[in-house]
Amino acid sequence: MPELTEIATGVLVATSEIYVTTTTVIVGPDGSCLVVDPAVTVADLADLAAELAARGLRPQAAWSTHPHWDHVLWCRELGDVPRFAAPLAASTAAAGRAQLIAAAQATAPGHDPELLGRLTALEPAADRIPWDGPDAHVVIHDGHAPGHGAVFLPGSGTLIAGDMCSDIEIPLLDLAGRDPLGDYRAGLERLAALTGVRQVIPGHGHVGDAAEFRRRLAADGGYTNALAGGVPFEDPRLTQDWLRDTHSRQLRHVAAARKVNANPPAASVADRAAADSSISAVSGWAWS
Ligand SMILES: [Zn+2]
Repeated sequence: MPELTEIATGVLVATSEIYVTTTTVIVGPDGSCLVVDPAVTVADLADLAAELAARGLRPQAAWSTHPHWDHVLWCRELGDVPRFAAPLAASTAAAGRAQLIAAAQATAPGHDPELLGRLTALEPAADRIPWDGPDAHVVIHDGHAPGHGAVFLPGSGTLIAGDMCSDIEIPLLDLAGRDPLGDYRAGLERLAALTGVRQVIPGHGHVGDAAEFRRRLAADGGYTNALAGGVPFEDPRLTQDWLRDTHSRQLRHVAAARKVNANPPAASVADRAAADSSISAVSGWAWS
């Protein structure tokens, strides 16, 4: 893995060759640090641990932005520390550990299965990660994955966006959720409401400045608008087969949800209400 680069004071980022996946390290007092989403291969994590040691940094805690395999990895050399996540992310990872381990093994084999996906739920009312370093606010929503938690560092204006705000990936909805499009848009709205973002670090892709953050929000808002329209469309980020396949699946899923809403069978009141909220969220969407 390329070495850690300081993108803001006390914020270090390394990027793996696999899926252009980022690992972020936030420097705290007395050689402590907070590690966000260490990834991806066994060698990447070993290099990260070695580089932290060489810099005199010792993880005090970690944060997993969401319960997908490439965001819940760990190795012994990083130390036995709490690896926090949003409550729903932690419980989802615990319930799906076997699948997480299998998925990791398929792409980045050799990780210690005992450590994979072992997350500690943040206190339900907590809005920041408990550690001694710079304030690390969490922005939790269910876009992309249950309990997706971005991290915002108001001191340096850094947003660690998890798998949102990418320059190389389209918005990836959690199609297993009740309202994938509505949840994704709610997540974008939460991120857009942050003030003072000076750099954004996507889980996959390249670090961007404030203007680039706004550009990505607009691009992702535009993508979700188009998706809601139900008519096939293109996006400049559809550069790989898996992205095109995912894009088609998302289009079909949203179109099917619209159909159900337009022609409700003997649906339950709750199902109908969920569909309605998705459609009204669509029509009320705007970026300023
Ligand atoms: Zn990811």
